[in-house]
Amino acid sequence: MASLLFQPLKPYKPIFPGTPKTLTQTLVCKADTPTTSNNSTGKPRSRNPRKRSSYGTSRRSVLKKSFAQEQVNFTSPVPDDPVVAIVGGGVSGLVCALNLERRGVRSTVFDTGMHGLGGRMGTRIIDPQPLVFDHAAQFFTVSDARFRELVDSWLEKGVVREWEGLIGELEVGGNFSPIPSSPTRYIGVNGMRPVADSILSRSHLVNVVRPCWISRLDPFNGMWHLSENGKPQGGFDAIVIAHNGKCANRLLSSSGLPLLMKQMKSLELSSIWALLAAFEKPLIVPARENFTPFEGAFVKGVDSISWMANNTNKLRSQSDGPQCWTFFSTASYGKQNKVPQENIPNVTAEKVKRDMLEGVEVAIGLSRGSLEQPIYTRVQLWGAALPTNTPNIPCIFDPYGRAGICGDWLLGSSVEAAALSGMALADHIADYFESGGARPDEFAIGLHDAFQPIKGHDIGQFPGLKSKEQASETETCSTYA
Ligand SMILES: Cc1cc2nc3c(=O)[nH]c(=O)nc-3n(C[C@H](O)[C@H](O)[C@H](O)COP(=O)(O)OP(=O)(O)OC[C@H]3O[C@@H](n4cnc5c(N)ncnc54)[C@H](O)[C@@H]3O)c2cc1C
Repeated sequence: MASLLFQPLKPYKPIFPGTPKTLTQTLVCKADTPTTSNNSTGKPRSRNPRKRSSYGTSRRSVLKKSFAQEQVNFTSPVPDDPVVAIVGGGVSGLVCALNLERRGVRSTVFDTGMHGLGGRMGTRIIDPQPLVFDHAAQFFTVSDARFRELVDSWLEKGVVREWEGLIGELEVGGNFSPIPSSPTRYIGVNGMRPVADSILSRSHLVNVVRPCWISRLDPFNGMWHLSENGKPQGGFDAIVIAHNGKCANRLLSSSGLPLLMKQMKSLELSSIWALLAAFEKPLIVPARENFTPFEGAFVKGVDSISWMANNTNKLRSQSDGPQCWTFFSTASYGKQNKVPQENIPNVTAEKVKRDMLEGVEVAIGLSRGSLEQPIYTRVQLWGAALPTNTPNIPCIFDPYGRAGICGDWLLGSSVEAAALSGMALADHIADYFESGGARPDEFAIGLHDAFQPIKGHDIGQFPGLKSKEQASETETCSTYA
């Protein structure tokens, strides 16, 4: 099992390319070496008090810490029963915790979720009806054997099932082309969030703390100390950053992990608007001969809409109740209409709602203003929606700082990519702990890998999924082969 989950390391690159002098100066032991002792290289520290690692006492060191961070270097041996803190309870963080448990390693997952875990694998339930919407990840495919094993366990628990509903591509005017039903598409039986909530339901070695927003990471006495707005959340032997975007940049900006920070800052993310809308009657798609109502469609040629899905049919909710639809904008519309996601001005929300409902009309071929008014709407901005570039490495780990990163963006932009990254980091950390931490260089991974653009739909990647066009191209090619 363990070897199945292990991704081979890319060739090791020194974490501090440059002269040994630079290395000596940068590797100041901030975490567990008293300020008067030698640094990690065994050479005495400079007598110049301005060069000492005396956080909080000299203005110069404070500046140095925030603008050019000193690298944390844990030198104490890894304890027999180490504990890992995982900041982020999306699928990558949860799968990381699950796989650490499989390797006998304890962890605590911290997540901001008010209603549940899952992050971008989210489902919104509006009472009292209730109206149910998957408001980020819609469905996923499986291409990797390790992810297949995880999805099989979800199928066994009854939290996911195959999505047999019709999905396809919708071009302006209601031109719908079905996408071939292979590869299998999966959805959460009751939405995506319950899938995420189930991941750790049988675990014994994982503690979940939610809602909790980790605002500081402090290395001290050989451990990482986490806190939420000044409230201590415990000490840990290693940390995992399982989230991204502004929040992660802020958290890493003063933590003493400059290499993790550098990689995180290279990440570029799209913005996507979501419109959740419930209609009293089924959405009228203009009658076409033999038209079968679709449950999901990638929309082509409409700036304000890239995806639409009928959640009521997809989730087999009350068929006589309102029809709940999730609509997503394109990434370019998200970029043009970006505002702070925590504080969306009413005027922007109204404009976006109007634009998106007009986009729905255009997509399905209704005349302007003829779309039935929804009985419920909600707009939401995913300000850090999907990665648009990737270092294409399963995980990042800094063995000096005993800190790693997992997340979708390391491998792509999908639930599968996030899960595989969580698995890879868990195995990597477990292997590092087994080594006792004595050979850190062997465990540095992903600290210098360059980023490449990610291809895919505006709402992510679906490995194996082909448009009707691509499928017919493949057929033609194999006919000639
Ligand atoms: C609109 C949209 C549609 C999508 N559709 C699909 C799809 O159909 N299929 C598909 O495969 N993928 C889809 N995706 C992508 C998919 O949702 C993600 O790839 C995947 O869920 C990412 O998981 P993650 O664990 O890497 O990150 P996240 O899910 O973002 O998890 C990070 C978690 O960390 C928490 N967090 C952040 N900061 C802190 C902090 N300081 N302290 C504690 N917790 C913190 C966050 O609240 C969040 O819960 C979609 C994404 C979006 C935005």
